[in-house]
Amino acid sequence: MQEQFDTVVVGAGISGLSAARLLSRAGRRVVVLEARDRVGGRVFTDRSEGHVTDRGASWIHGIDDSPVAAAARAFGMPMVEFTVGGYQPDSRPLTYFDAEGRRLPRDAVRQYADDIRTLNAALVGIIPDAADDATYGDVVERALAAQEWDAERAERVREYNDRRAQEQYGIGMDGLGAHGLDDDTVNGDEVVFPRGYDELATHLAEGIDVRLDHVVSRVQWSPEGAEVETDRGTFPARHVVVTVPVGVLHAGDLAFAPALPETHARALRLLRMNAFEKVALRFAERFWDAGVYGIRQLGDEGEWWHSWYDLGRLHDEPALLTFAAGPAAVATREWSDDEIVASTLAQLRRLYGGAVPEPESAVVTRWQDDPFSRGSYAYMLPGSVGADHDDLAEPLGDGVLHLAGEATWGDDPATVPGAMLSGHRAAQNVLGWEVPVSDLWA
Ligand SMILES: Cc1cc2nc3c(=O)[nH]c(=O)nc-3n(C[C@H](O)[C@H](O)[C@H](O)COP(=O)(O)OP(=O)(O)OC[C@H]3O[C@@H](n4cnc5c(N)ncnc54)[C@H](O)[C@@H]3O)c2cc1C
Repeated sequence: MQEQFDTVVVGAGISGLSAARLLSRAGRRVVVLEARDRVGGRVFTDRSEGHVTDRGASWIHGIDDSPVAAAARAFGMPMVEFTVGGYQPDSRPLTYFDAEGRRLPRDAVRQYADDIRTLNAALVGIIPDAADDATYGDVVERALAAQEWDAERAERVREYNDRRAQEQYGIGMDGLGAHGLDDDTVNGDEVVFPRGYDELATHLAEGIDVRLDHVVSRVQWSPEGAEVETDRGTFPARHVVVTVPVGVLHAGDLAFAPALPETHARALRLLRMNAFEKVALRFAERFWDAGVYGIRQLGDEGEWWHSWYDLGRLHDEPALLTFAAGPAAVATREWSDDEIVASTLAQLRRLYGGAVPEPESAVVTRWQDDPFSRGSYAYMLPGSVGADHDDLAEPLGDGVLHLAGEATWGDDPATVPGAMLSGHRAAQNVLGWEVPVSDLWA
């Protein structure tokens, strides 16, 4: 006999697990169907060779009022302060190299960071009036034109904004909508998880009926209820919460019958899955500056590998993290791990000399080729505003079908807190009443 569920949740990432946990606590019969052989989705910790590497999310970008920080505390997850994850120019000590590969003096760094702040302040007045089809690059150019800076000074700030767009959203500023960084604020210290971010998913999944290795291909829905088709049978339910990444929806790997209405289809068209990969390198010994959180390379030589973060802050081992973010991720997608590592090393050797050794081990991620993600997270195309994300979460079919996930949370998309809060909203929409988000960890 077919099992009957009140709610089927598709996807055991942070959004799906949060929705399922709150619904279970409210007494609903819930099952989570997950295509992978693990929970966590884009929160995924690699523990190979005795090292802990987060292949997906690493940071809480600001712990003030963060539900993820509250959950992590309640679950006893150790956290380490690492306030450089928002691509700030000088939140914590960084070593800067100029375009010629020379160390940038402290007063030049201060001037550079002040210029960035000046431009950011100007952008606040410009972005709300941006044309519908304006890119982030367009508003940066308008803000730069209003400064009385020489070409070199303007170029450094232009370059900063392009690299920030790449590191934050995995797309250069000429591909990102003018509002694409509106949400990009850091409230309080940033932290990372030395024991791995996946402990959050493991805790949220405790006591939940999660069926791994269930690939959902179709969700049939109407006001009378839903049927969720998987490669292991069909699951009927009163409600369905679909949390798969928008890349999976764009690819049509999970189809809706009937198709999503134009409100939701429009919002989906305004989002794109990005190209953003991590490269973590472990060395026998440290060759870079002590006491800094990271290293940045200005100028054309830093076009791909411009920033390295010192993972020695998390674990007592010499290791650096860099990103193939946007164009670099697209260009190196077909490269082998060895080729990608060699390319990063060539840049490090330019800065630190030929004595930079080969790494003892390396982790290179491949989110672009992951069939259950198809990229790392979603960014906003020109013409999109933050609220478009939330349009995706409007319940359908008299409250039968709900979409959730990072891309449906306009205030803080592309993040773990966004995923968690979207799951909380979906649970409330299924229930028809409010529940505190703290029920997730209380
Ligand atoms: C490299 C990288 C770095 C990041 N860095 C940060 C960071 O530092 N800080 C931060 O806050 N966020 C970061 N993020 C973003 C963050 O990881 C995500 O926003 C968040 O984890 C998304 O959660 P979710 O539940 O919405 O989606 P997911 O975690 O993707 O969960 C969706 C689930 O659906 C499953 N699924 C997909 N297709 C199917 C199917 N057909 N049938 C059944 N199941 C399916 C997937 O396997 C997955 O488990 C990063 C992400 C990446 C990839």
